[in-house]
Amino acid sequence: MNRYDHRYADPDSYRQRRRGFDSGRGGGRGGGRGGRHGGHRDDLDNLSLPKQDFGNLVPFEKNFYVESPSIRAMTETEVKMYRARREITVEGHDVPRPIRIFQEANFPDYCLEVIAKLGFVEPTPIQAQGWPMALKGRDLIGIAETGSGKTLSYLLPAFVHVSAQPRLVQGEGPIVLVLAPTRELAVQIQEEALKFGSRAGIRSTCIYGGAPKGPQIRDLRRGVEIVIATPGRLIDMLEAQHTNLRRVTYLVLDEADRMLDMGFEPQIRKIVTQIRPDRQTLYWSATWPREVETLARQFLRNPYKVIIGSLELKANQSINQVVEVVTEAEKYNRLIKLLKEVMDGSRILIFTETKKGCDQVTRQLRMDGWPALSIHGDKNQSERDWVLAEFRSGRSPIMTATDVAARGLGRITVC
Ligand code: ADP
Ligand code: MG
Repeated sequence: MNRYDHRYADPDSYRQRRRGFDSGRGGGRGGGRGGRHGGHRDDLDNLSLPKQDFGNLVPFEKNFYVESPSIRAMTETEVKMYRARREITVEGHDVPRPIRIFQEANFPDYCLEVIAKLGFVEPTPIQAQGWPMALKGRDLIGIAETGSGKTLSYLLPAFVHVSAQPRLVQGEGPIVLVLAPTRELAVQIQEEALKFGSRAGIRSTCIYGGAPKGPQIRDLRRGVEIVIATPGRLIDMLEAQHTNLRRVTYLVLDEADRMLDMGFEPQIRKIVTQIRPDRQTLYWSATWPREVETLARQFLRNPYKVIIGSLELKANQSINQVVEVVTEAEKYNRLIKLLKEVMDGSRILIFTETKKGCDQVTRQLRMDGWPALSIHGDKNQSERDWVLAEFRSGRSPIMTATDVAARGLGRITVC
């Protein structure tokens, strides 16, 4: 059994594949990063969000890190050895030491209880180093491979942050804003948030395109401490003044490389103008090409950085990878032959480069009697949800997908 994971052979081909890709309402149709109109909106330049006055800001608390005595007692050599063993590299000034066990992060008891219930044994490396860094209230860039627990790396410090802020009053927007490139990812982040937040009375909601606005507006108007959003739909909500970002003091960009790469930069820029400049900003990503760093730093203040493993892209060791080079004409027959060999009741994911290709392969497979369904950015949310459920349950064991649509399926186990 292997966890589903997808990596990129090299950043350039990865970027090429992004081109022309659309992740739905919030997606980048504008020709990749640098496209002026990265999202679905061609009127982004004309769009006017309410002017914000950040002149007389009331200071807020953002440093919640209390180093535990057991961490203080470590020698420099022990710290070095721990970082080396867990392949943790850090950059920047005043980086706190990593923690080794959950208790050393000083999270509230309910967090530890949920962690115990989930059966987690120890912090993942990004959590071990990322938690103290995030809790200190500084801006940071966290880079670690898919499936390494980045979501909780920012969510648990977010809960601590929220609990220390004045309560929301009627008409106020969220305290924590998490931006994510796709709705699937946004939904998964919220699932993680719900596991912990429900214990602390911290509310969260997901704001993404391709789904009715009504329930999202209702949640926003009722007041939520944490909003997880794709940029396009959030801008719609801000424009219509269903919410505002004046209370946001903790801003997360998840899959930051992908967001910038998918052309979300103009949207992110618009959104950031709505948020107070002394906020804490956290970038999380699996890959970190240099150009993305340059862009990212425009939104960060004196950030530090944690990298787990090597930045060199490498294949996931737990997945057996076989590469075959075939002509376009040979592809389908080769696929069928492969399916006949591997189809044994386990689930199979087939990635295609384009949405059109995805539809074509799926149609052909179905005509030939294979139980295949597809997801990609042109499918509406309810269809995507349904297809995912069919695949997860094994009722439809073959799923075809474009890679960005499938992004965020990290919890699917393929056999
Ligand atoms: P990433 O964002 O880095 O791709 P996720 O945050 O989605 O990874 O986490 C992948 C899975 O690992 C999730 O199911 C999450 O609940 C689980 N997880 C997170 N932290 C731990 C931990 N310390 N030990 C075991 N599993 C964990
Ligand atoms: Mg993630």
